[in-house]
Amino acid sequence: MEEEVQNTKCIICEQEKPLGIRICSQFVCDECESEMVNTDVSDARYPFFIHQMNKIWYRVDA
Ligand SMILES: [Zn+2]
Repeated sequence: MEEEVQNTKCIICEQEKPLGIRICSQFVCDECESEMVNTDVSDARYPFFIHQMNKIWYRVDA
């Protein structure tokens, strides 16, 4: 059985982090959240963030 409430594995960096936010029951750590906010669309990492975020939406749809 999966305990999503206790899952603090960040969906972006895929590491266990103590602090972060939940988006549709998926965990995003503080660091990645602030990084995403500060990442410009022209930044090389931007597509990576979008890709990782897409995982969240796919799971919601499931
Ligand atoms: Zn993270």
